[in-house]
Amino acid sequence: MENQLFSCMVCADTCSVPCMMKCPRSSFYGKDECDGGIWCLDCVRKWCDLNKPKKERQNKPIRCGKCRAYIMDSKYAYASKCYQVLDALFPEIDKYTKDIAICRRSSCGVNCNTQRKLWKHIKNECEESMMKCEKCTRWIKRKDMKNHIECDHTYVECSLCQNDHGFKNKILKKKLISHFNWHRQNYKEKFIDSLNLMKIEHLRLKKIEDSINIVDNYLSHIGQNNIL
Ligand SMILES: [Zn+2]
Ligand SMILES: [Zn+2]
Ligand SMILES: [Zn+2]
Ligand SMILES: [Zn+2]
Ligand SMILES: [Zn+2]
Repeated sequence: MENQLFSCMVCADTCSVPCMMKCPRSSFYGKDECDGGIWCLDCVRKWCDLNKPKKERQNKPIRCGKCRAYIMDSKYAYASKCYQVLDALFPEIDKYTKDIAICRRSSCGVNCNTQRKLWKHIKNECEESMMKCEKCTRWIKRKDMKNHIECDHTYVECSLCQNDHGFKNKILKKKLISHFNWHRQNYKEKFIDSLNLMKIEHLRLKKIEDSINIVDNYLSHIGQNNIL
């Protein structure tokens, strides 16, 4: 009897992070025609297509899983409009079974021991959960976030001139090659320029040395005459 009280509408297992759909005919809207059913968090999210980014959702009406009353279109759906987490039930479920506090998301399987810790884990820690990128507001799996930041938000700088090449994932190989070729050409020209400058300096130095030699010779000549 108790078991049935907490069993999920979809998977028929004991609810893992119990939720209730925000049915327009339920107590959320001051009515008592429907109770919105009781769902696992992951089951209700799947039902409402909330696990996918908005762009990837097929637009279809989300209906109450119990009485089929219309809630909203899945294309624009967000969690707080579709379901409510029944955290008041957490201690009851903890008392009832411990196995249900294991994270069911893909390959995660972390045992959180209590419903509260599991919910916290799903929201803030689970590598399989989606999180919002602070830079572009896209929803990305936590485990893919590092890679996303690295590829989509990292500017690549040229090591020679510190110019931006743009975002790492958008760099064109052709552009990069032509940029480095430009550097090569530029350095060649500069090198030839400085070589020419050195030649001129060398000639000038030689002229100065020649002049000094002439003066030296002259001075030593005078000196010799003085002694004689
Ligand atoms: Zn379920
Ligand atoms: Zn309903
Ligand atoms: Zn997890
Ligand atoms: Zn981003
Ligand atoms: Zn450069």
